[in-house]
Amino acid sequence: MKALAIGAHPDDIEFGAGATLAKWASNGCEVSLLICTDGSKGSWDPSVSTEDLTAVRKMEQRAAADELGVSGEVIFLDFVDGELNAGLKERETVASWIRRLQPDVVLGHDPWKRYRLHPDHKNAGQLTVEGIVAARDPFFLTGSNLSPHRPSELFLYEAEENDHFETSEGHEKEKLNALESHKSQYVSTMGIHEDDKGGGLQEFRDRITKELCMFGELAGVGMAEGFKRISEL
Ligand SMILES: [Zn+2]
Repeated sequence: MKALAIGAHPDDIEFGAGATLAKWASNGCEVSLLICTDGSKGSWDPSVSTEDLTAVRKMEQRAAADELGVSGEVIFLDFVDGELNAGLKERETVASWIRRLQPDVVLGHDPWKRYRLHPDHKNAGQLTVEGIVAARDPFFLTGSNLSPHRPSELFLYEAEENDHFETSEGHEKEKLNALESHKSQYVSTMGIHEDDKGGGLQEFRDRITKELCMFGELAGVGMAEGFKRISEL
């Protein structure tokens, strides 16, 4: 089996589907990650160089992929953080990667989640959904020599309506390790403060574990991640 997970920024995939991808990878699934933006706005420190930040975030993303056991590719599309469009050019880029990698399962942000603030998450989700359509139908991407590819399943994470749960029992540690690889995001995204003598980190771990338990309860298992699953592609 091959899976392709698409996220707006480095760390989004780990938040939404880290344990599931770690489980699948450990079962022999070839997992690839596609990050749409360069992560250049992911800091609250105005003195940070965006070039340095981008380089650091790519390193962190690769380290996180290793923690998940990713054996496929880690792809950076490098669209500017905060300015991701769900336009034709971007859709063709995503669709080309779907054709090239030929995943059975595609994972992405739910573009229909209500009351979400970040435009990149919505647009990355839109690109995932519309990228599948363009990858699958032969009269899209006619200028390329890539053959059409129709994935079997789409899993939307951070979903408005969760109707599928992947048991993550035994893989919560890999999710946490992958998330904690994104050290540049400790303060701005994860609420982890280094002067907190580890308390902030423990609180973060508790929060992630609590969410896994919440989905696990809905699924009637110990821990799980929740998705909107679309099987008619
Ligand atoms: Zn994000």
